[in-house]
Amino acid sequence: MATFPEDDALVGEYAVPDDVRPVVDRVIGFIEEEVLPYEERHGDHVGGPLDYLDGEGLLKPETRAMQAEIRQRSADEGLYALHLPEEVGGGGLSLREMFYVQEAVFRYGTGHGSGVARAMLAWTEGPSPALVHLDDAQREEWLDPLVAGEETACICITEPGAGSDVTAVSTTAERDGDGWVLNGDKRYITNGPFADTAQVLARVEDADGPAHERMAMFLVDTENPGYEVGQPNLNIMMDGITSDVHLRDCRVDGDHLVGEVGDGLPLALSWVNWRRSGRPGMCAGLGRYLLDRMLTYAKEREAFGEPIGTNQAVQWPIVETATELHAVRDMGTRMLAAYDAETSLSDLDQPATARRKLSMLKYYPEDRLFDWADRAIQVLGGYGLMHAGGVERVFRVARNIRIPAGATEIQKRTIAKTLGLE
Ligand SMILES: Cc1cc2nc3c(=O)[nH]c(=O)nc-3n(C[C@H](O)[C@H](O)[C@H](O)COP(=O)(O)OP(=O)(O)OC[C@H]3O[C@@H](n4cnc5c(N)ncnc54)[C@H](O)[C@@H]3O)c2cc1C
Repeated sequence: MATFPEDDALVGEYAVPDDVRPVVDRVIGFIEEEVLPYEERHGDHVGGPLDYLDGEGLLKPETRAMQAEIRQRSADEGLYALHLPEEVGGGGLSLREMFYVQEAVFRYGTGHGSGVARAMLAWTEGPSPALVHLDDAQREEWLDPLVAGEETACICITEPGAGSDVTAVSTTAERDGDGWVLNGDKRYITNGPFADTAQVLARVEDADGPAHERMAMFLVDTENPGYEVGQPNLNIMMDGITSDVHLRDCRVDGDHLVGEVGDGLPLALSWVNWRRSGRPGMCAGLGRYLLDRMLTYAKEREAFGEPIGTNQAVQWPIVETATELHAVRDMGTRMLAAYDAETSLSDLDQPATARRKLSMLKYYPEDRLFDWADRAIQVLGGYGLMHAGGVERVFRVARNIRIPAGATEIQKRTIAKTLGLE
């Protein structure tokens, strides 16, 4: 059904297995029939490299409205929350199956800078597997609107004094009658300025035990007067959605607690692990987008009277990328299948072997993507550095993702620990 052109030389090489083909075809069909024509019709807001940002560097309302529309259309088609279990309204896909979905979205939906295509699939703003732990009443209030794509969320873990070391979080939660009062400063919060719901990690003041046992996760309606959006965090990705968040005597009812006091850290890690598990598919999709761009350019661009792709110096980075894509695809799909067989993202007690898999699956594909993006810029020459060339943005994304959801060094630290090196 998908009519995107496949490069003849590669057909069959990066095959999608038969059991996943139907859902991947639906995703590609949605991008082709809904997203790309929509971007075309609303080109004013995605036409230029920075046309989607306002004067403060935040997403323009028009761009947000476009993303919201794509998100809701995707949710209506049952594509937005494919990663969640069916009992909470998701598509019930395994992580291995999600690999192929992510790959398709990032390969075919990377044409514009506005993130409109990417909005079809739940990302940081979407319903995370951590929220499966809500009870029925909580689900109806908080999770259902996220699954339906009607609302968005943000996750507030990082603080000025707590990044890699999550246990250093100093935002406090104090009991107040049957509710809680939150106070603290959060930093680098994706979708912080625009979310409807914030998932806030805090330290419970009167709980006993070491720091990691005293944490709790709270849901905050961002219209709560105690939720303040701080300064935008302008960053390498120019995403327009990242900011400081301040909690100032932010009172929430008792039923805004997710799970129990003490669940905060595993819940936060459940959210983080969700992002880690998506990296192999994301990197494979972006890698294939880069490979498409490199192949096309190397065949069409001429220098010294012949296509640049006739030179070995131009062929080899393309060859290496095509080869390494196999490594990431095989590693990603096999290790995610093994993770699926072992546990699930919503399991708060992750076996060490599962944590190790996710850490390996985060850092290695990200490192490869960084090299692929660097090579793509080199193959495209000056055009590769231009916004119009379509690859410098992937380079910035590739550089970025090696820090959020646990920096590369933290992944290696986790892997080393599971190998008995501590
Ligand atoms: C664009 C963007 C979006 C983000 N979105 C969110 C969000 O939505 N919500 C949220 O809560 N957070 C978010 N973050 C924060 C992100 O998770 C943190 O930046 C990340 O965890 C690293 O923390 P840090 O920046 O404080 O670095 P630090 O912890 O200060 O680390 C600095 C360097 O030291 C290294 N290092 C630290 N400790 C060790 C160690 N023991 N061994 C070896 N090396 C070590 C790190 O790997 C890193 O290279 C976002 C960040 C960015 C850049």
